[in-house]
Amino acid sequence: MNELALFDGVPVRKTAIPWANTMGTEEENAVVDVMRSGILSDFVAVKGEKFLGGSRVKKLEKAFCERFSAQYAITVNSATTALHTAIAACEIGPGDEVLVSPYTMTASASAILMNGAVPIFVDIDRERYTMDPLQIEKWITPNTKAILTVNIFGLPSDLPAIMKIARKHNLYVIEDNAQAPGATINGKEAGTIADIGVFSLNYHKVIHSGEGGVLLTNNKDLAYRCQLIRNHGEVILDESDDMDTVALGNNYRMSEIHAAIGIEQLKKLDGFLKTRRELAERLTQGLKFVKGLKGVFIPKGYTHSYYVYPIQFDSEIWGIDRKIFAKAIAAEGFPLGIGYVKPIYLMNMYKHKHVYNHTQYPFNLIKKSTQKYEKGICPVTENMHYNTLLVADVCRVPYTKDNIDEFLLAITKVWDNRKALEEYEKNCICRT
Ligand SMILES: *Cc1c(COP(=O)(O)O)cnc(C)c1O
Repeated sequence: MNELALFDGVPVRKTAIPWANTMGTEEENAVVDVMRSGILSDFVAVKGEKFLGGSRVKKLEKAFCERFSAQYAITVNSATTALHTAIAACEIGPGDEVLVSPYTMTASASAILMNGAVPIFVDIDRERYTMDPLQIEKWITPNTKAILTVNIFGLPSDLPAIMKIARKHNLYVIEDNAQAPGATINGKEAGTIADIGVFSLNYHKVIHSGEGGVLLTNNKDLAYRCQLIRNHGEVILDESDDMDTVALGNNYRMSEIHAAIGIEQLKKLDGFLKTRRELAERLTQGLKFVKGLKGVFIPKGYTHSYYVYPIQFDSEIWGIDRKIFAKAIAAEGFPLGIGYVKPIYLMNMYKHKHVYNHTQYPFNLIKKSTQKYEKGICPVTENMHYNTLLVADVCRVPYTKDNIDEFLLAITKVWDNRKALEEYEKNCICRT
């Protein structure tokens, strides 16, 4: 008999740890206040104070500016629309290219397409998982207008290096900081280091209001254009006629209810981060004693916000496939993500360049194609996704230090029984 839960042994944890409800009486009261006021949104798309939204929207923006030391905050209704807004605010559109990481949530790249520009994928660093600065310059063409770098899993990108390259080539830099609120580089807040930073308040993120997004910038013109795009900007332009650029506006406005929740959640951010960091540091320490697993790498001067905890699996050392390992660990009570999102350029929409019906737009506007979306263009990303990376979601409330120890125990248990798993893999029982 084998003691692994996969083979009907007793699991380390019998019950999975649930997703935490982080809504408290603070959020409840804040929502009730909005309901009682009757003013659920106080935006109006005409010139005047209300062009910039209601009192909670403004309060949340002020709180973001203070918490992250930024000059301007613009709330919107998701990080996806925030990314769309950021790219449009930089006046990037058809005929332009934007460099982006292929290992990210799809929205980072689709926001580029939604502006009619073409995403060009730059491979990631094998330890940080963020865009590798050494891979950037080979993809820069006269069409390149910006770098959209993603602070993935909670670690800021190598922004010092990226900003240097961008300035040399006169490119904007946009930080997709949906996963790294509160992470820092030498004390500077992720999401405020580039020209514009994007935060998410989506349900799955470190803090949330159900849905929501926030843009941060220290550039007054960019902030103004974001405000225009958020709220049917063309209306205002008609009246004032004093802008020299066109702003195709949308309705990306945040409601007062979402803003009210966001205000309370932002107050809790540092508490959540403290928990995440304590748990993650314990896990990192524990993983140092495990062969064939590599925990997070934190560059000098950086802090991480541990949206999730990435682990590299060495199947040679373990003698089993990553999938079998993950299956055995899941049976012990700790589900693991196998890889992350498929490298974006391998998704069908990209491979077939089928975005806007049959036109091949916007790819057809680039005369000499810069990048073929096919296997091999970002080998580090592909190796992480298809062979190496595992993603653990154990460093957050309501997990405790004991749960981290249980997770480490599960790993040890699987290690001790890896020979049985090797047999299991060989016999392909795993296929069932
Ligand atoms: C979640 C996420 C987004 C999109 O956020 P929404 O608020 O859900 O639109 C964008 N980029 C990254 C990296 C994300 O993790």
